[in-house]
Amino acid sequence: MDFSNYSDLSPAHNEFRSDTFTTPTLSMVASLTKATLGDSVYNEDDSTIQLEKKVADMTGKEAGLFCVSGTLSNQICLRVNLKQPPYSILCDYRAHVYVNEAGGMATLCQAMAQPIKPKNGIYLTLEDDILPNFIPDDGEIHGAPTKLISLENTLHGMLFPIEEIAKISKFCKNNDVKLHLDGARLWNASIATGISLKEYCSYFDSVSLCLSKSLGAPIGTVLIADKNFVKKANHFKKQSGGGIRQSGLLATMAMTAIDENFGKIQRSHDMAKELGKLCEENGIVLEHPVDTNFVFIDFAKNKMSSDVLTKLSKENGIKLYAGRVAFHYQVSSESFEKCKKVVLECYKDSLQNPYIGKSSSSYYQAK
Ligand SMILES: *Cc1c(COP(=O)(O)O)cnc(C)c1O
Repeated sequence: MDFSNYSDLSPAHNEFRSDTFTTPTLSMVASLTKATLGDSVYNEDDSTIQLEKKVADMTGKEAGLFCVSGTLSNQICLRVNLKQPPYSILCDYRAHVYVNEAGGMATLCQAMAQPIKPKNGIYLTLEDDILPNFIPDDGEIHGAPTKLISLENTLHGMLFPIEEIAKISKFCKNNDVKLHLDGARLWNASIATGISLKEYCSYFDSVSLCLSKSLGAPIGTVLIADKNFVKKANHFKKQSGGGIRQSGLLATMAMTAIDENFGKIQRSHDMAKELGKLCEENGIVLEHPVDTNFVFIDFAKNKMSSDVLTKLSKENGIKLYAGRVAFHYQVSSESFEKCKKVVLECYKDSLQNPYIGKSSSSYYQAK
């Protein structure tokens, strides 16, 4: 067999567009020989069961469900948390469940979305954002009661403070409101804060954790919740065409990814912070603070041009989108140096040729 594609230098070594571009490693491929080959729709695949149990144990929940994508997992979670419309789902206006899941909230849950712009610009707070917008289920018949709040951690790489999560969780419990966490990058939050996955997850009815982002598995997300929740979630998973037959192969690669790469996330945060600092030292305005593996450069405020960035990136052999710079464990040191150089050159160009155009925000929506 020819394994020459699986060198130490991943094809994603120069990839800054997203942390989804990580490529499977040779050890992930080698682990396939140990994968079981049962049919997981019949719940007869041991590797899949093992992965689901592993993530449930790591997060302190009763059960897990392996899904092909974070979108499927999020949408299933939203549905299981809700019973009968009319109702509303309250979330950040930038939330993946609202912006990037093809309107699933409306078509699959039949929910009204309540997208809220946090007053502090970073994360939703109970006092400033949730209470003023909360629609109680009190017999008033004009509104659609808020029955679910969906948080995201990290959101655009930003951390959601645990104290605020605790407050919101308490409010939800006292008011018969469910609380979901889109924890696609909860791994990053946990590494950055030292707060365990278990503590984070203890505040939520359901959590979705991606395996194919920072951890670098080729595919998959695990949703975690209590047993009855997961049983119903599996029903919706099947209805959505999400049943995977011999998923042991994928589950085994995902387990290898967790074991080998969870500990490698820190370096991606270090690189992002270094780039963030470099930007600030050079007067390049960022959209918000760098907490984990993303740097959001405010192209509009800096009058930087995405076309110039693309051109410079090509010339230097790296891949970059305007606005969002994503880091992952496979970025090489050499590519990182080029990335810093390209960002600085693009900014210098903007001082000579200020560009007035589309804001950067429209670019990173294209994940
Ligand atoms: C990537 C991502 C998801 C899931 O995306 P899929 O591509 O469907 O796996 C969900 N939430 C957030 C915040 C994400 O970044």
